[in-house]
Amino acid sequence: MRLFGTNGVRGISNDDMDSDFALRLGKAIGTWLEKGSQVALARDPRTSGDMLAGAVISGILSTGVDVVDVGMVPTPAMQYYVKKKGMDAGVMITASHNPPQFNGIKVVASDGTELPRSEEEKIEGHYFQQDFRKVRWEDVGRLRQGESAELYVEGIISAVDADAIRKRSFTVVLDCANGASTSTSPMLLKRLGCRVISLNAQPDGLFPGHDSEPSPENLRALVDAVKNTGADIGIAHDGDADRVVFVDGKGNYLYGDRSLAIMAKYMVESGKASVVVTPVSSSTAVEDVVKAAGGEVVYTRVGAPIVARKMIDIGSMFGGEENGGLIFGEHQFCRDGAMGAAKMLEVIARTGKSLSELESEIPRYALYKTKTKCPNELKEKALEELAKMYAGKGRIDRTDGLKVYIEDGWVLIRPSGTEPIYRIFAESKDIEKARELAETGKRNIEKIVERV
Ligand code: MG
Repeated sequence: MRLFGTNGVRGISNDDMDSDFALRLGKAIGTWLEKGSQVALARDPRTSGDMLAGAVISGILSTGVDVVDVGMVPTPAMQYYVKKKGMDAGVMITASHNPPQFNGIKVVASDGTELPRSEEEKIEGHYFQQDFRKVRWEDVGRLRQGESAELYVEGIISAVDADAIRKRSFTVVLDCANGASTSTSPMLLKRLGCRVISLNAQPDGLFPGHDSEPSPENLRALVDAVKNTGADIGIAHDGDADRVVFVDGKGNYLYGDRSLAIMAKYMVESGKASVVVTPVSSSTAVEDVVKAAGGEVVYTRVGAPIVARKMIDIGSMFGGEENGGLIFGEHQFCRDGAMGAAKMLEVIARTGKSLSELESEIPRYALYKTKTKCPNELKEKALEELAKMYAGKGRIDRTDGLKVYIEDGWVLIRPSGTEPIYRIFAESKDIEKARELAETGKRNIEKIVERV
């Protein structure tokens, strides 16, 4: 039995994610820590945030552990507080980019990074066995309020070239998606001397502006606002603001692999990072620009915590994903949307190039994505069969599923960790070639599933 997925526990508010569940999970988290420990807790503006936070806090306090409520702030602001203030752990009440009826609970370690699976298993053990520490009345934990927004914003300002950014007096359109970034990103950009035009900048758990995934469909108003105001850049976050995506001054939405490649190129060229860590699903464009700048790419399995862990292990100062998750080691080893936004302004200020010029310097590849059903119990067997099928067809990488480099492209066929499906990504300079690689991969999985 497991509770935690790749990004904590998620569910429907007041259905599977209700106050009884949150209370019990709070007790499990408190019991996992030593008596007398301190936990920072934050939430996004979802409607059930107060309800779940109240229950989690109560559960933790009952085990003799103190809680510091750091308010409605982005996940990375809570993580920064945990690291800076020497907390023993952190808890975030959020469902990130999921629709408004969802909420979730995620736990981070004392350095602010996502918990290794082995620690999550300990919390799950307490939860499932109802093995909770109940302290005597005089030892019950205490709750106090903490300030994290200011600390976080000042931390980011000190980690970027604020003078260079201020000199440019950027006009920025910022879309907060009514999410957690409402408490920090407008303040950050103003302090960096930007003229800020904000959209959906009031916290509202009903998400009246749009859903909280920063997809092109959800950001039409941002694109229009950038065009209509002649702004230098558009910036958008997902619900808990651990990710950031950009719109250039011409109103073009940049997919996450484009901004990742721009940032990777800058970080290596400017000597801030020599090794860039990214999952095997990322575009070859990243490797192209990093190698051209004299750096090296290290690939991992898909998942931001895995990228962050690898960065720590090998001493890499920059990593990221194709969905707008950027990790800056000098700041903290977790995805950080506001840090990514401020750093992109630094890139524009220091290179003297607009975002669309920077984007035009990145090689273009076509990505084709598809998926196919595969029962969970067949996933491992299918992978072995697949490896045999592709043997000798090209260089094979087994970091996550099966990635095969064929001619001038690659196909990645990997089992989903949460659903009974295989995901198939293929990339090539030519979209038809990418489609063919992906469709062939899909047919191969289907053949194996039929046969087995
Ligand atoms: Mg998120």
